[in-house]
Formats: sequence, structure tokens, C-alpha cells
Amino acid sequence: MKRSKLALYLIPPLFLALVAVGALFWQWQSAGRRGLPEVSVTLEDSALLQHGGSWEVPLLGGLLTRRLEGDYPALGLTIPVDGAQPSLAVSPKDASLTRVLLTEQGGGAVLYDGDAAGFSAFSFAEDGDYYLEVWAALDRGGQGAGEFYFDAALEVALPRPDPSFTLSASDLLQGDLIAVTAENLPDGVVPTGQSELGYVRFSPTGEAGCYVALVPVGYARAAAQYTIEVTAGGETVSLPVTVSENAFEVQQMTISEEVADQTVNSQAANWEFHITVVPLYDTANDELYTGSAFLQPVEGRISTPYGVLRYVNGSTVPERHGGIDIAAALGTPVLCPADGVVEYAGYLQLSGNTIVLEHGGGLKSYFYHMDSLDVSTGDRVAQGDKLGEVGTTGYSAGPHLHYEVKIGRERVSPWPLFDGSSSIFAAAG
Ligand SMILES: [Zn+2]
Repeated sequence: MKRSKLALYLIPPLFLALVAVGALFWQWQSAGRRGLPEVSVTLEDSALLQHGGSWEVPLLGGLLTRRLEGDYPALGLTIPVDGAQPSLAVSPKDASLTRVLLTEQGGGAVLYDGDAAGFSAFSFAEDGDYYLEVWAALDRGGQGAGEFYFDAALEVALPRPDPSFTLSASDLLQGDLIAVTAENLPDGVVPTGQSELGYVRFSPTGEAGCYVALVPVGYARAAAQYTIEVTAGGETVSLPVTVSENAFEVQQMTISEEVADQTVNSQAANWEFHITVVPLYDTANDELYTGSAFLQPVEGRISTPYGVLRYVNGSTVPERHGGIDIAAALGTPVLCPADGVVEYAGYLQLSGNTIVLEHGGGLKSYFYHMDSLDVSTGDRVAQGDKLGEVGTTGYSAGPHLHYEVKIGRERVSPWPLFDGSSSIFAAAG
């Protein structure tokens, strides 16, 4: 065969090869020019950040593929979410979501890992910081197919239900204590309250938008209807309560004139008490006692009950006894009834060795006539701690502990606190 004839046979395949190389080059170039198709994912109306993507374009009818990788900036994005069930959407229409992964921010628990249909039924249970990752796929046959990756941090603040105001009880006895709870208040709104019953001061419970106030029903409050008015965010609600009579005993008491003269009848003793203890009536801190029943600080015979009408040394005008007197031997330990802060510990002519203990929200325990004190003003004490010992200092006729519970200037019965039956223990906080 002549060389020229051989060359003639080679022309068609060479030509085809040339065409194929040309087509490949052209297809390769145009795939690169077109780049990755645009795919976007939105949560509600906010676009997630695209953080990855690859696109494979078939060349020469699928004999070869060109793989393109997206180049994405390492940005971070936080999307505020205020609905429990935010909806995810992908565009264009022929793209689909293949996987949704939701975790707690900072590598926390996985809350959802699945497909987009399942995610549409997911709802956030609580406010917080979350991390959302989404994968999407797009298949355009001969034009290519690929996968795309998106993410965003989510700051979830769920809509709060309407504010609500509730009482722990509305049928009360003289001497009771009630909790008023305000819930679901908008951020920054602190409720205020007022009542003929006395002190209404709200403390935050620690839960968002939630406050509680303890309101006293003093022993001398007439049996009648009362209201507690709560104002929050420009709105005032009126909460009615009914106070019924409590049965209080009548007692005769004798105390030596000498003791009386040094204490209740002494102007100096009264003045000292007035400038030391009385200013504490209206103080409060926000560290609410959240435990259950109070511990009775001393066990013993109740020599003078709460609320008693007491005629001293034959007087015709009774005085009221706002606490309980627990008779016990000199030196009996006095235990802390509930966690709190010692607002005052010291000796006063009228009340002897005295402790005033704040349990939060203005709820206070007062201890009088003690023999010795184991705590100092400013101490933090826990339920069961020894505060000192039973004595007979100040206006006292014999060894006993005078214990009383006050909110503001009103004295309430300690018994529902001791036996846990007080409705305040069932209230929020
Ligand atoms: Zn007493």
C-alpha cells in the first residue's frame, strides 16, 4: 500500500477526533463559564448562607464529566426566629431539600435530623441559640447535577402568650399569705401592685417575663372582700380575694413591772427598736426562697399562739401577739426556718437578742429574746443552720423564743409555712 493511500484512510478518524476534541473543549469551557447554578434556601424570609456546593456536568454525552466546586466565603449568619415552626423553602423550583440538621448551638444535642417534610412538623420548644444545616440537590439531566450546603445560626425567641395574673388562693383566713404571679410579661416590663391588704412587691422568679409578689393578710384585717391591683405595661387588673375570720384566743399574761419598765414601758427601749428594726419592715431582696415548708425553729409548747388577744397585767385593752411564743429550756438551739440573709443580729433592750432574717421578696422571720446569737448581720444562712439559743432577754417572762413572720408591716401565721399548706408553695417560682 502506498503511503499516500494510507494517509487517505486516516483522514476521517483524525477528523472525527479533532471534532470530538473541539466539542469537548467547547463543552468544558462553557460548563466552566456557566458555573454552578444558583440555589438558595430560606428560613421564613431569611436566606441561609451557602457554604458549599458541587456541580457535575456530563461532557460528550456522558463519556466524561466536569466537576465544579463552589467557592464560598467563611461568613457567619444569625437569623432571628420568632415562630415555633419556621418554614424552610428552596429555590429554584426543581431543586429539593435532601437533609435538615438542627442542633443546639455549640455542638449541643441534635434536635432534628431528617428530611424537609419531617422538619415542617418540627417546632421549637424553647427560646435559645441553635444551629441549622441544610443540604439541597438539583438534577438537570444533561445540563448537570449537584449538591448544595447551607447553614445559619438561629436565635429563637418564641412568641409569648398573653400576660396572665394569678393568685395562689382567693379564699383566705386572717393570717394567711398569698402569692400573686405575673407571667408572660414582655421584656423589661416589671409589674407593680397595690392592695388594702398591704405590701405588694414583685420580684423576678428567674423565668423570662415572670414575677411573684407575696401579699399578707394580717390577723387584724376585717373579714371582707379585698382586691389586689396589678399594673403591668399600662394595663391594670383587679384580683378579688375574700378574707374570713380566723379564731384567735384570748389570754391573760403577767409580767413583772420591773421587766415591763425596762422594755415596753421604756421610751429608750422603744426608740432603739424603732430605729433598728422598724426600717427593715419595708426592705426586700429579690432572692426568693424557693424551697418547700419552713422548719419550726424550736420545738416546744406554744405558750402564746399567733394572733392572740393578750391582756397584760390586768390591762383592759388587749394587745395582739403577732408571732408565736415557743417555750423551751434556756440554751435550746434555734434553727433557721428557711434559707435567707441575716438583716440584723444584735441585742436590743425591748426584744433582747434579736435576729431579722430576709427570705426574699420581703418575707422575713423575726426572732426575739434569744440567749445567744451564732450569726451576724449580713450572714447567709440555710434551712436548719443554728442561729443561736433560746433565752429570756428583753420583754420576756421566762425562757422562750418569740418567732414571727412578716411581710412589710403585716404579721402572718407561721403555721401554714411550717406544715407546707400555704398556697405560696404551690405558686410559680
Ligand atoms: Zn412573743
